[in-house]
Amino acid sequence: MRVAIVGGGIGGLSAALQLLKAGLDVHVYEQAPRIAEIGAGIQISPNASRLLLRLGLGSAMEAAGVRPRAVHQRRWDDGRTLQRAPLGSEIEATFGAPYYHFHRADLANLLAGALPPERLHVGHKLIDLAQKSERVVARFENGALSEADLLVGADGIHSRVRTLLFGPEKPRFTGCVAWRGLVPAERIKRLDIEIASHNWMGPDGHVVHYWVAGGRMMNVVCVVEHGAWTNESWTDKGDVGDVLARYEGWHPTVRGLIGAFPETFIWALHDRAELPRWSLGRVTLLGDACHPMLPMMAQGAAQSIEDGAALASLLKAMPDDIEGALARYEAVRKPRATKLQQASAANRARFHLHDGPEQRKRDEAMATSGDRSVANIGWLYGHDAAAV
Ligand code: FAD
Repeated sequence: MRVAIVGGGIGGLSAALQLLKAGLDVHVYEQAPRIAEIGAGIQISPNASRLLLRLGLGSAMEAAGVRPRAVHQRRWDDGRTLQRAPLGSEIEATFGAPYYHFHRADLANLLAGALPPERLHVGHKLIDLAQKSERVVARFENGALSEADLLVGADGIHSRVRTLLFGPEKPRFTGCVAWRGLVPAERIKRLDIEIASHNWMGPDGHVVHYWVAGGRMMNVVCVVEHGAWTNESWTDKGDVGDVLARYEGWHPTVRGLIGAFPETFIWALHDRAELPRWSLGRVTLLGDACHPMLPMMAQGAAQSIEDGAALASLLKAMPDDIEGALARYEAVRKPRATKLQQASAANRARFHLHDGPEQRKRDEAMATSGDRSVANIGWLYGHDAAAV
């Protein structure tokens, strides 16, 4: 079975490795001239890392990743701990796979490096596709054509494949923007920040930060409520002074991190409503192409890795019934991805509460129920997407 994957992001690359391992003839087509990820971090939880471990990427992940000890939820002004849940050895022992923090480029390179070079076609921007009887023909801007039994659109939130299948529809601006910064460790020594995932919650915004690149850099993401967004670009250069002004009155650690940004970029955060379906004939979608979500569960990329695992298992089990396998893929994956889209949106409201009765209720619930405790997070981290 020949499979064409459009998009060489984390979703497309990891799907390619999983499909190859299932014995399929896979090719990835990426529009960019080389595999490149933006300068930012990414958290990979055990539900995704267990799938990457099975691909033999354990030592590469260990070399590139940082293992956080805990996830620390804190108050915006006085820094008080609202909840602290384990992410280190206890999580690995319970769920059989570690929690990692990566620089995005390290993760993308690690995945691309595991793919035989002849299977990765950069400089291939998909512009059109046609389904004829049992074949799919993809047409690229450079004039190339590719024929396959199945085409997978892993081409992100602005998915061309999705538009070709279901018609044009712009992603919606969620009302949140994120400033991101990568701070060299030597600039923030005095802050003495623990190797953990830190989430500071405050009025109309939150800040997440964690170590990446072997602890050489701190990845910082500052998310705020923003109103309208008219700029088409979603990765503009920002101004560090604007970020500091927006976080006036926040804890000195938060302000110390922002003040140490060498530069900052703005991300306008978009999502989409749940799609009625993901597949048409022998073409399907995965990752942000079909279920983009706000980052407040840190699960967008993890879910795209899970998509690839489910697809690989099903195609291996049902090689003579591709459309049946795609129907099953959608049936097992869509409810879970939708649940995470909804949980991410709910966390946005929860993280951005103004001080008052609602915030006190949240803080009390965090302190007593521990939504990230080992017992409560099993549905997410314990899931094995390949077991379909
Ligand atoms: P993309 O990464 O968008 O990749 C799509 C690829 O397709 C790109 O390489 C693109 O160039 C290519 N492409 C596009 N169009 C074409 C075309 N026509 N032809 C050929 N190629 C094409 N997720 C987590 O799991 N953990 C986190 O900690 C986390 N943090 C986040 C923080 C922020 C602030 C944000 C915004 C997101 C975060 N996410 C996180 C979500 C995660 O970044 C995305 O869900 C993930 O990158 C999606 O991967 P993808 O491969 O589906 O899409």
